[in-house]
Amino acid sequence: MNKLTLHFRYKVCYFEVMSIIKPTIQILPREIIDKIAAGEVVERPSSVVKELVENSFDAGATQIDIEVTFGGKKFISVADNGHGMIRDDAILSVEQHATSKIKSIDDIEKITTMGFRGEALAAISSVSRFRLTTCYQGEIVGTEVIIVGGKLQDVREIGRPKGTTVEVRDLFFNMPARKKFLRSPATELERIKTIFITLALSHPEVGMSLKSDGEEIYNSPAGGTFEDRIRDIFGREYFKNLQRVSFTKNEIKIHGYVALPTISRTDREEQYVFVNGRSATANVIVYAIREAYRGILAKDRYPIVFLRIDCPPEEVDVNVHPTKREVRFRRPDEIRDAIIDAIRNALSINVSAGENARAQPLPSFSRKQLTIGSNEELYPRISGKANAQSSAPAVEPAVTSAEPQVGGKPLWTWCRILGQIGGLYVVLETDSGLVLMDPHAAHERVLFEEFMAEIKSGNVQTQSLLFPETITLRPNEAYYVTKHIDLFREMGFSISIFGRDSFLVDALPACISNASVGSILNEIAQSLQQSGSRGAKDIWRQETIARAACRAAVRAHSQLTEKEIEKLVERLSRAEMPYTCPHGRPTVIFFPIEELNKKFQR
Ligand code: ADP
Ligand code: MG
Repeated sequence: MNKLTLHFRYKVCYFEVMSIIKPTIQILPREIIDKIAAGEVVERPSSVVKELVENSFDAGATQIDIEVTFGGKKFISVADNGHGMIRDDAILSVEQHATSKIKSIDDIEKITTMGFRGEALAAISSVSRFRLTTCYQGEIVGTEVIIVGGKLQDVREIGRPKGTTVEVRDLFFNMPARKKFLRSPATELERIKTIFITLALSHPEVGMSLKSDGEEIYNSPAGGTFEDRIRDIFGREYFKNLQRVSFTKNEIKIHGYVALPTISRTDREEQYVFVNGRSATANVIVYAIREAYRGILAKDRYPIVFLRIDCPPEEVDVNVHPTKREVRFRRPDEIRDAIIDAIRNALSINVSAGENARAQPLPSFSRKQLTIGSNEELYPRISGKANAQSSAPAVEPAVTSAEPQVGGKPLWTWCRILGQIGGLYVVLETDSGLVLMDPHAAHERVLFEEFMAEIKSGNVQTQSLLFPETITLRPNEAYYVTKHIDLFREMGFSISIFGRDSFLVDALPACISNASVGSILNEIAQSLQQSGSRGAKDIWRQETIARAACRAAVRAHSQLTEKEIEKLVERLSRAEMPYTCPHGRPTVIFFPIEELNKKFQR
């Protein structure tokens, strides 16, 4: 109302001024203002779907059905069974800044609804042929509102069940320039699907379906859990690769699923993060996810995560941008640490064969055979200390819980080494099929885990050098080594500062002592420099150092004997994170029997 009078007053001034001199500045007519504003909220069919579905969530719907034709360019309909609107509200709902969701500025601080700006319906109806039908719970008649290009055409009484349906036809019919920016129906449909998935994951308890040109694409029933929803949308096979996340610290709760590094992507498309039920992103979240996977995923790969972060609403600012999912946290450090810990907890695979072990009789032609996990006497589990190299390792009985632990899948329950190809890759037959292993990557992984286990137990084996060595580093690298020299000492290095940019080393952690001191220190210094100020925690810093040291050690030890390969296969199968080397390269590639059968069309 105010807006209209204000607008009118401008118009009067404008005509008065006009009669004296010709102004170059003009107040834009309402219609144009609305259209410009619409451009911010409504970019394409998928953004219409998003806004409408969010309104349905806010209306408490338990079922939302979406239909589109021609990638949403011709027709979009979102029907819900939410609380609906009375006639007056239905008319108001399409006005700019009309919202039922906040009343004062203070409400923004603790927003719990998806919308609150009151712009979506106004924007959408100003750039389309728009029809809204709604019926408030308990009312006998409903209301139909028809708007074409922002102009109210008709308001009528109609009969319909409780809920609201919004139909949007010919999006941007009155904005040809914008319409031109829309892509092909197929591409627009892809975007709608992407939005649908995110929305569906954000409210797993709400039944949701999507139809395109009459064909059902998704249909996920109401009342499900986050897990059900992921399975419905991505399929059971996919779900098998996910590890459950369940983490609470103070008032921060993190739940969901994260993928093993065996499946990853070249982009962040499958990182679904929800903060208090709304799809959200923040630099700190992106950073924390990357950090959590550091060392198990290659630099150019992105993990797949489904995370629900719940914290008190006043801890998050969602009012950063009208459509962007960007949020800000009051205490980003806490969120960061919580995410990292949550993911890392979920990923640490407890490798125990337990009752899952299926010892299989091996054919007699096996050249080498290793039975892993099914015979504890022969191959005892490695305890926290890295004593796998010792010929008489401490025997610790394998965990025999009847229930398979979450993520406690061993790499294989038995395997035999068939040989090596290309003088490098080790070929294995396992219970599930054919496996190729890169022995260098595997060696790095095994060394790294053993080294970290020693560090964590505070029991690092050291090896004194025959001749102490002085190593000089580049100044910027020397800076990092000096800065973390205490950490080096905790990790089993005997190292002292020896003049400017030089260090005297007279003992190394035993597991990496086969490499040259120079190459180890160089490798570590470079890694520390690259990691810069990231990773404020000592544990991350230790991992950086250990990772670099192991790389240097493996490089120094390039040719593995048959015996060593055997040992390696055994040690890798029991590693916590056996799928990649600490730098993220794969250690093993699987060819499951089922896949081979499919290839051979059996
Ligand atoms: P916002 O969601 O930011 O409040 P919208 O323009 O999306 O703004 O919607 C304006 C108002 O219309 C909402 O505040 C709500 O009261 C009402 N509304 C919109 N969609 C629905 C719906 N599906 N069911 C019930 N009420 C709705
Ligand atoms: Mg809204």
